Amino acid sequence: MALNLPRTVSVLGSTGSIGVSTLDLFEQAKVDVDVVALTAGRNVERLAEQALRWRPRIAVIEDEAGLPALRDRLKGSGIETAAGANAVRDAAAAEAQWVMSAIVGFAGLAPTLAAAKAGAVIALANKESLVCAGPALLRTARMAGGAVVPVDSEHSAIFQVLDPEVADQVSRLILTSSGGPFRNATREEMAAATPERALAHPNFSMGAKISIDSATMMNKGLEVIEAAYLFAMPPERIEVLVHPQQIIHSLVEYADGSTLAQLGPPDMRPPIACAFAWPDRLPWPAPKLDLTQTPLTFQHPDFDRFPALRIAKEALRAGGHAPAAMNAANERAVSAFLDRRIGFLDISAVVSETLERLDGMEFAADGPDTVECARMTDTEARRVADDVVGGLASRAARA
Ligand code: NAD
Ligand code: MG
Repeated sequence: MALNLPRTVSVLGSTGSIGVSTLDLFEQAKVDVDVVALTAGRNVERLAEQALRWRPRIAVIEDEAGLPALRDRLKGSGIETAAGANAVRDAAAAEAQWVMSAIVGFAGLAPTLAAAKAGAVIALANKESLVCAGPALLRTARMAGGAVVPVDSEHSAIFQVLDPEVADQVSRLILTSSGGPFRNATREEMAAATPERALAHPNFSMGAKISIDSATMMNKGLEVIEAAYLFAMPPERIEVLVHPQQIIHSLVEYADGSTLAQLGPPDMRPPIACAFAWPDRLPWPAPKLDLTQTPLTFQHPDFDRFPALRIAKEALRAGGHAPAAMNAANERAVSAFLDRRIGFLDISAVVSETLERLDGMEFAADGPDTVECARMTDTEARRVADDVVGGLASRAARA
């Protein structure tokens, strides 16, 4: 039977972990796609290599300083080049049936929204855009006749086992988590953790930001918010279970006591394949599960060592702009930790303190409904978070 696959595709964040996995999947599945746009942040060399292999109509580098080198590398190829955040956004809106949204952080919101406005099917890896403006993004996609299909493995799992016909008969969504590199660490070990130690994820090689988010479990916090928006589920019906083997990617519990799970090896290509071919199933030489080799274990998360989980649930309950503010503070805190300006346990402390300081602010109660609105919250929360980081860093320098 012929599959009904997208023909024109764009990959936003093509040089990152998810972007590279997406192009690798295309290669392995031998799909016949016309690439419209490839975009990257700063990695000119990898972007140029990808462009020469995939022949997009346009290759965009966000960092304007990279444009001369990109032009030089693509000279004579006929591939258009551009640079800057606006060019990334415009490329995202260029006509493509399927757009992989794999930029990291708040920077992914404007391009993802632009692709949604253009009516594309969005394969959404960039969870921060949902966290910052979930309802607006989903509404925009719906109104433009497109769709948002999750790539995050937990949400892909739920997407695959949640029957929309009986969504109101779901009693719980259970998101699984690897527990990250500090699953069994003491608080003292966590306090002393270096970026190198925190970046060493047990099962996956991922971008730096999501690796640190996995270590603090803020990644799971962002995912709880992502699930609440994607599946219209109240916070009290979303739970997290630590499952170190990362074989069961999440579960849906129904009112009748039946629980459905989706399983797969810890590899992002199957969820990307699912988002690409949905509702078809893409044939490719996928790594197979051997369940006889892996005992599956589960435990409750430790909210004391991983306060980010609690902070995220509180932000979701508070609603409005709190998730966007939380995300901004987290991005700044992660970056300060990677720059060795604050300690590992300070990351959650910065987020929590930022939200407290912003508490009295006049944010619209129903959350950002435009990118501009989300950007105002983002900018203000970054400013406050930087101030909190500055305080911690100078205290540490004096100690
Ligand atoms: P990464 O850091 O490896 O890649 C990020 C990509 O975005 C790169 O191509 C980079 O050049 C580009 N980029 C960075 N800053 C940019 C900017 N300001 N403007 C335009 N482009 C910019 O990250 P990743 O691990 O691939 O993650 C990407 C997204 O997918 C994140 O939101 C992450 O949470 C999500 N995600 C990743 C994984 C994973 O396994 N890596 C799993 C689930 C979800
Ligand atoms: Mg995930």
